[in-house]
This record gives sequence, structure tokens and C-alpha cells, in this order.
Amino acid sequence: MKIAFLGLGAIGAPMAAHLVGRFDLTVWNRTASKAAEFSATHGGAVAATPCLAVTDAPVVITCFPTSREVEALLDGAEGVLAGMQSGATLVDCTSGDPASSRRIATRLAELGLGFVDAPVSGGVVGALSGTLTVMCGGNEATYVRVLPVLQAFGKKIVHVGPVGAGHALKAVNNALLAVHIWSTAEGLAALVKAGVKPTVALDVINASSGRSNSSEHLIPLRVVSRAFPRTFRLALLEKDIAIAADFLREQRVPSLIIQQAAELFRLARLELGEAADHVEAVKIVERWGDVVISD
Ligand code: NDP
Repeated sequence: MKIAFLGLGAIGAPMAAHLVGRFDLTVWNRTASKAAEFSATHGGAVAATPCLAVTDAPVVITCFPTSREVEALLDGAEGVLAGMQSGATLVDCTSGDPASSRRIATRLAELGLGFVDAPVSGGVVGALSGTLTVMCGGNEATYVRVLPVLQAFGKKIVHVGPVGAGHALKAVNNALLAVHIWSTAEGLAALVKAGVKPTVALDVINASSGRSNSSEHLIPLRVVSRAFPRTFRLALLEKDIAIAADFLREQRVPSLIIQQAAELFRLARLELGEAADHVEAVKIVERWGDVVISD
């Protein structure tokens, strides 16, 4: 079965690599050299346009920064809709926004095309090992049809509700990630100033009730080590928290902490720039507290 994968970014490329050999893969990327490099390294055909990539593919996967890029690629002579055949399904692995997903799904349905929002969690490491969590929004029958494709790169794959539910859940998850990163950094900054080593503090927290993925993995491996690898852009996390904040507002849930996190990560991105990694937000906490979270 032919699968088209559009968007070979930091997470898209390792996800697409798992499809090679299992399916007849065709890739497209805005910067064509990255698609050529992907094909030379992993295999798969390269298409010159989104339209050519998706032609004859029952399943088309997109993985772009935001829903805006997904919507923009639908139209035009070289766009996705010019190539998709009736009965095919667009699986959007972008961490997008629920309202855009519902709009896209409605347009596609009018053309006899299916849509599933299927954002992923687990980072580049999870993408490389094919163990991503995939949260899917869409109708049950469409979800079941695309499940074998998602199993190539996902380990925990869950149908969470109608179109948009996957994107809503992903946004809430990432808002929690942001709150954990920032609040753990604040607590550690104070402890370091009081003379407690961060490795000692984290050792205790990680055996106690305040632990999280941030305290167990991100802060020890990326902050205390001062490695700060760039795997998931701060700008993308900022986008996710903003989606979560909007979603909570729409649902009329008071959301002081998530709104605050959205603002803090917006300030961090303004300070640190578009290329900064999400965990580098800790550098702002350090700057404000005049302290470095390191032994
Ligand atoms: P990157 O910034 O690394 O890659 C973005 C991809 O989108 C690239 O292929 C880029 O093409 C393409 N792109 C950007 N703008 C356009 C445009 N206007 N038209 C066409 N293509 C465009 O992002 P990631 O791969 O890190 O993230 C992709 C999605 O996955 C995001 O929604 C992110 O939030 C989510 N995600 C990322 C994770 C991570 O750890 N990185 C973890 C979980 C989810 P080009 O090569 O030409 O720049």
C-alpha cells in the first residue's frame, strides 16, 4: 500500500523512516534536499510536489509545525487536495489545534476523504525507537483503517474521541510538560541558592511525590549536565500551550496556571529565539534568579 509522508522535520523524519519496508513510501518536504537525503539514507521515493506525493496513496500523513501549514498545503494545483483520491484518509500528526482540524475534516468529508488528527508524544527518542504515543481524533471506522500505519511508529495508540480530540489532548499534555519544566526549575533554583546540590534535590524529588518527566529526565540530562540538546523547539511548545490555553477558555474552565505558562514560554521564546530548545526555558528562570542549576 502506498503511504505519503509530508514534512520531514525533527520528528517527522524518524517517524517516516519506520514506514520504509512496511509500506510503499513516498515523501515530500519543502526543502527538497532533506527529502533527497532521507531517501538516500532510509529509502522511499521522493515527490516534487505534495500533489504528486499523495496521488494513489490511501493514507497521507502530515507533520508540520502548526495546523496553518497543513491547511495551506491543501489548496492549489500542486496541493494535497489536487492529488488525493476519494476514499483516502489524511492523518495529521502535527500538534495542531482542534478548531482547524474540525474545519479541515469538514472540507475533506465533502470530497469523500477521511481525516484523523493523530499528534504524537515521546520526542525524537520515541520516534527513533518507534515507541511514540499517538492520540487520535476521528470516527472509529477511519481510525481502525489507519491503525496499521500508525503502528509502524507508535507503541501506545489510543482513539480518544471525535476529530479535534487528539489535538486537544496533546495540547493539554504539553501544557503540563511546560508547567512541570518551569515549576521544577523554580524550585531547584531556590534550593541551589540555599546550598542544596541539584543532583541531591532531584534524587529526593524523584523518590517522592513531586517527580515528573522533567525531574526524572529532562532537567538532570539536559540542564544539570548543561547539554541542552535541541530536539523540540521552544517555539513549538509555546504554540502547544497557547492551544491548550484557548481550549480551556473555550470550555469555560478557569486556567490561571496554564495561561501563566503560556505567557512565560512566550517571553522565553522572545528572549531565546526561534531555534532554542524547549528545556532552554530554564535559562530564563536561572537568569531571573541569578543562579545556575548545576552541581
Ligand atoms: P521541525 O521544525 O523540525 O520541522 C517542521 C517541518 O515542517 C519541516 O519538514 C519543515 O520543512 C516543514 N515546514 C515548516 N513550515 C512549512 C511550510 N510553510 N510549508 C511546508 N512545510 C513547512 O518540527 P518538528 O518535526 O519538531 O515538529 C513537527 C510537529 O510535531 C510540530 O507540530 C511539533 O509540535 C510536533 N512534535 C514535535 C516533537 C519533537 O520532539 N520535535 C515531539 C512531539 C510533537 P523544511 O525542512 O523545509 O523547513
